[in-house]
Amino acid sequence: MTASLFGTVDDEYAAVAVGRPVRGEFTYLVPPALKAQLLPGLRVKIPFGRSTILGFYLGPAPAPSDEVKKKVKPITAVLEPAPALTPDVVELCRFAAQHYRYPLGEVLRATLPPGLTKLQEAKQARPDVVHTAVAAAGADPSTLHRAPAQQATLSYLLAVGGRANVDEVAHAIPGAREHLRALVKKALVTIETEAVVHGVVDGMGSARPAKLTPEQTTVVAELEVLLDAGGFAPVLLQGVTGSGKTEVYLRVVERALAGGHGALILVPEIALTPQLVGRFRSRFGPRVAVLHSALTDTERLRAWQQLRSGEVKVVVGVRSAIWAPVSDLRVIVVDEEHDPSFKQDEKLRYQARDLAVMRGSQAKCLVILGSATPSLETLENARKGRYRLLKLTRRVDDRPMPTLQLVDLRLERPKTVENRDTEPPMLSAPLRLAMQETLDRGQQAILFLNRRGHATFLACEVCGQNLKCTECDVCLTYYQGRGRVQCNYCGRAHSLPKGCPECDGPLLQLGVGTERIEAEVAEAFPAARLGRLDRDAVTTNERLTDLLSSFARRELDILIGTQMVAKGHDFPGVTLVAVILADTALSLPDFRASERTFHLLTQVAGRAGRGADAGRVLVQAYNPDALPIAAMLKNDFEGFSDAELQRRKALQWPPTTRMASIRIECDSAELCARTAQHLATVASRAMPPSSHGVRLLGPAPAPISRIKGKTRWQLVVKGPSHVAMAGPLDAIERALAEVPHAVKVVIDVDPGAML
Ligand code: ADP
Ligand code: ZN
Repeated sequence: MTASLFGTVDDEYAAVAVGRPVRGEFTYLVPPALKAQLLPGLRVKIPFGRSTILGFYLGPAPAPSDEVKKKVKPITAVLEPAPALTPDVVELCRFAAQHYRYPLGEVLRATLPPGLTKLQEAKQARPDVVHTAVAAAGADPSTLHRAPAQQATLSYLLAVGGRANVDEVAHAIPGAREHLRALVKKALVTIETEAVVHGVVDGMGSARPAKLTPEQTTVVAELEVLLDAGGFAPVLLQGVTGSGKTEVYLRVVERALAGGHGALILVPEIALTPQLVGRFRSRFGPRVAVLHSALTDTERLRAWQQLRSGEVKVVVGVRSAIWAPVSDLRVIVVDEEHDPSFKQDEKLRYQARDLAVMRGSQAKCLVILGSATPSLETLENARKGRYRLLKLTRRVDDRPMPTLQLVDLRLERPKTVENRDTEPPMLSAPLRLAMQETLDRGQQAILFLNRRGHATFLACEVCGQNLKCTECDVCLTYYQGRGRVQCNYCGRAHSLPKGCPECDGPLLQLGVGTERIEAEVAEAFPAARLGRLDRDAVTTNERLTDLLSSFARRELDILIGTQMVAKGHDFPGVTLVAVILADTALSLPDFRASERTFHLLTQVAGRAGRGADAGRVLVQAYNPDALPIAAMLKNDFEGFSDAELQRRKALQWPPTTRMASIRIECDSAELCARTAQHLATVASRAMPPSSHGVRLLGPAPAPISRIKGKTRWQLVVKGPSHVAMAGPLDAIERALAEVPHAVKVVIDVDPGAML
């Protein structure tokens, strides 16, 4: 028997998480034969109910009561010699399961790569290899006149320079694999085999700068002290766009690696930021694993095993990389820490940035949260002294920040058009002029509008009704290219109706999206080469990489797009950035709408003037006095965050308050409302005394009250801390077992959006 924090534990009993959506930890008996093999994090085979399933050994458990003892079953077998999960990841999972109120076994399973999530023994993933065919010196196709197919294959190989990827040759010449084999036998060709390094984007990396800027030097020195000291050290690195934050991360990771330690770097979206990955690749080569959603199962397993074995010590990845089994973790970086993509919106609704701080505190390491526009949560932590604040206030090489100019659409936009069923043009005279000047100088422009389609809604001129999705409480978007209307929530599309479905009146095309802007630009600047970057125009990662790299190679003059253009791109040719309509997100019924607007505007503005030529930003708006727009135009992050924090405090929203939302969804509107009522009653009975400051809001229909035919209700719990809110949330969690199967209830702790 050993004594632990949890009381007396006995190594005769094991705490096990089961790979099933059930809450809590379970006790099993340890068969004497397995005693020596059991290590926390091992995958085990266990009886559960009437089946045999996957479980995870967590550690010794206290002996159960005599009554329970009789029912405890033994662990059947151990599935692997060494634990799949590292102790620190198990710890992180335990925290996440508790904090986000999600079954622990499911959390553990979600962290594992395919191949380890089922009841089977682990297989070793073979490294991916490429085969290159190489023509032998002096190989002459004319000697092959009796074998024309082999002759053609060899001629092709020589024509492309004497070496080519076997897959490519096979693609160009049918049956080439067989011909190549014959050529190998004749010693005219050899095949070279090489392991593949994934996630490399050619030409996207940049050389290691010989000298850091003075500010970078100071910041790197401070971070190195923290790194060398070891221990938990959370840091906010607030650096204006183009100040060289990435170079700071690279230096710190270099040092960790030189000391034999591991590093974990989280980035918002790999596909959108190939440059960043390119920079890590060109600095660390195969010593870095890249984890993103486009990997195949084998690639993912392979990367995971390389990390688990310690063969690779650095990982760059999207939010799910927070679970990566990095050995001897010394530093965690979260780039663009304010980015909403760090919050997962399904199943386990975790916030990877928050978990990064938790993992750092558990693993006792340096955590760097980097951003030009930190989230209010992180800013508040820095102000309270919980995080150290380091700043980069100037761009590299003292390049100027772009100049910011308002275009007041109330004055600058035409009020009418001849063609009456559509909106007047969005490109104002000042914007056209700026675009013309940019094109004349051979420079590039980015136009940003965070709405897709041609018209964002259609309204009847007679009865005033908007055309809505039949399944969702959402207006349909009109896509002119496809001649269809589509719901951007459920994807339902149909042809554009001739008139209003209610009264047959003519439909007006209102609200402007990226497709419409593209058409306007094409008309105004027929010679300009345009690219459009949104989820409709770019549907695969290949097309995305193509588009970004042709813009980088300056084969395009103007890039038009949604928030996808705002990400951390580094295009030195861009001197003009225009925000087509800054007000789009302001009216959303979400408490973060204002913050999100400020972030997006600043982020997209930061794309201008990153090269030798100075940049300018034009911001078109109807409501330039709105806080985020006015503050952004003054480059006043402090002013914005102070005012926004005051507002959040007054209205009791995060970060001054903790929050959880409970969403109830059901095909039946009646059952949905009834369940919401029931859960509200359950929660209200478990509320702490009012002096604890916990509040229950709702139940009420969600801001979008129907999606995909399901009615949606919402309940919100707010309080000064998660501990204070535990009563009502525990009660709701317990009540989930009795909720009818037809109703889906989701508990979202620290929700990202309230829609
Ligand atoms: P941020 O992430 O802060 O927006 P980046 O790290 O992308 O900034 O840096 C902006 C540009 O400056 C990049 O092209 C980068 O290669 C370059 N850069 C960064 N640090 C230096 C330096 N010390 N010397 C020269 N160029 C640098
Ligand atoms: Zn819909």
